[in-house]
Amino acid sequence: MSTTALNDCPDVWSLESWFSAYGAADYAAFKEALPGAMEALSARVKAAGTDVVALATVIPDFESHNERLGHLSAYLGCLSAADANDEAVKADEAWMATMIAEHEKLGAALRSALAALNEADFTRLLGCPETQGAAHTLHRFRIEGQRQMPGDLEALASDLNVDGLHAWGRLYDTLTGKMAFEMTFPDGHNETVEMSRRRALMSEPDRRLREAAFHAGQKPWLDHADTLAAGLNGIAGTRLSLYAKRGIGHFLDTPLFDGAMSRASLDAMMEAIQTHIELPRRALRVAAKLQGTSALHFFDLEAPQVAAPDQKALTWDDACSTVERAFAAAYPALGDYFRKILADRWIEAAPRSGKRPGAFCTGSRLNREERIYMTYHGTVHDMVTLAHETGHAWHSSVLRRARTLASDYPMTLAETASNFAEMILLSGLMRDPALTPEMKAYLLDQEMLRAHAYLINIPMRFEFEKAFYTERAAGEVSVSRLGELMSSAQHKLYGDTLLADGTDPMFWASKMHFFITGVSFYNFPYVFGYLLSQALFARFQEEGAAFLPRYEAFLALTGSANCEEVARQTLGADLTDPAFWSTALRAMEPTLAQYEGLV
Ligand SMILES: [Zn+2]
Repeated sequence: MSTTALNDCPDVWSLESWFSAYGAADYAAFKEALPGAMEALSARVKAAGTDVVALATVIPDFESHNERLGHLSAYLGCLSAADANDEAVKADEAWMATMIAEHEKLGAALRSALAALNEADFTRLLGCPETQGAAHTLHRFRIEGQRQMPGDLEALASDLNVDGLHAWGRLYDTLTGKMAFEMTFPDGHNETVEMSRRRALMSEPDRRLREAAFHAGQKPWLDHADTLAAGLNGIAGTRLSLYAKRGIGHFLDTPLFDGAMSRASLDAMMEAIQTHIELPRRALRVAAKLQGTSALHFFDLEAPQVAAPDQKALTWDDACSTVERAFAAAYPALGDYFRKILADRWIEAAPRSGKRPGAFCTGSRLNREERIYMTYHGTVHDMVTLAHETGHAWHSSVLRRARTLASDYPMTLAETASNFAEMILLSGLMRDPALTPEMKAYLLDQEMLRAHAYLINIPMRFEFEKAFYTERAAGEVSVSRLGELMSSAQHKLYGDTLLADGTDPMFWASKMHFFITGVSFYNFPYVFGYLLSQALFARFQEEGAAFLPRYEAFLALTGSANCEEVARQTLGADLTDPAFWSTALRAMEPTLAQYEGLV
């Protein structure tokens, strides 16, 4: 696709500062140089062995190779999102995937070398000028190296995972991708509905439609329950066996390591949620009242109780100036950054056929530039997305000061800056005297839907998974037992806000997250990120502009320390103390009180 043909249009991004054009001489030369550089680097890692000086000199080259791969990979990602049908770009992306696989092998070799160093040599390595600022990442590399089985066993495991672990995940995708069900709509007509539509139907304002989609849509899950349970048992069983062989003591150790957080923080967070569970439950009680029922059914949970107000579409200029005003008023540096990325055309927002749906922020460590991808259709939701992605881009721009080996942050810290930017926009909107009561009610309802998702629904998934993995360690868990564990997790988190017959015992099967084979315990980092950003925003509201330098110090440190250390050093906060999380939870009280005012 051509990104230059539409240059005059302000909401199409420019990528010319990355490469003059796709396929141009600079692009071709850059691409051609990569395989040779990779080979040379592999040879050097192999030759370095456990020689501290040789390893120290190889590390900055590994880092800059990372930057070059990341640059090309992000560029191709931008092109293929903006034109999903470009076959040349697709071919280059496939080639890139093989390069990344090679790079991962190189990374594994480096991790093994670091793991093989004795304590004194590792300390000596961290003292070398080449490794300054990278200690946190090198420590993590070393731990990952120590958790690898001997080379031939790791190679066998990764081959077997293709046909085992990941095959269960693919089976899930294939099976559920073809699922459909017969449904009678409230107007009496019958239709075969693809399973992928069920969730959208269960988010419809018409309760009869939600109910019909829920009940009719249960059938395929029940029909395939044995197969799905075999898959879930297979995935968990494989993981538990590999953990044992790798010397990993608990099934939460790996997801905690990936999130760069401690078990103590996780437990403190979940404990605080349980203590304050009445806060998000109050929002569900309001939702039940708004729809005129005594409590909710599972199919009511994701439905808006306040409809989006009818209004003329927001123009792109309106959205940009609203975001800009909110940022500039609360956080001038963020406002300046937003103005700059608009002027430099770092945002792709034009609606066009062939664009992939969704939104993301990407960037290059080589030219230290960010890009935002989205498709703007003129809704409030799109405007919030713009603020969200700008928050991510701002995080990357703050990290430009850090070296690349100190810029990689975990999922737990990834959504802090984006949520923070969203909250600046929303609190700006809520304070706007021109805000209509309908829009205010709508925004409050949306915010409470989010609170439900992060504070009840996701913790419920965590409770289930934890119970399931605990029992799976002793053997296969049956279909009926999976249903019991699911229902009891729902009772624990929802309490009486769900109707007595309102649970979904088949949620273990219909929730795709439980079957993701690349990451285990996919969900809890999102709760962590949500609550942490609530806590940061509460402090910002309390302390005003004086808080912002500490906020930026927080963002700048996200790639150089564990979550606990980042929070301690920059906020003086103790994440292992339930009191920290309690404060974050109580920050929702004023919004909740306004929401309760609607009934
Ligand atoms: Zn995000």
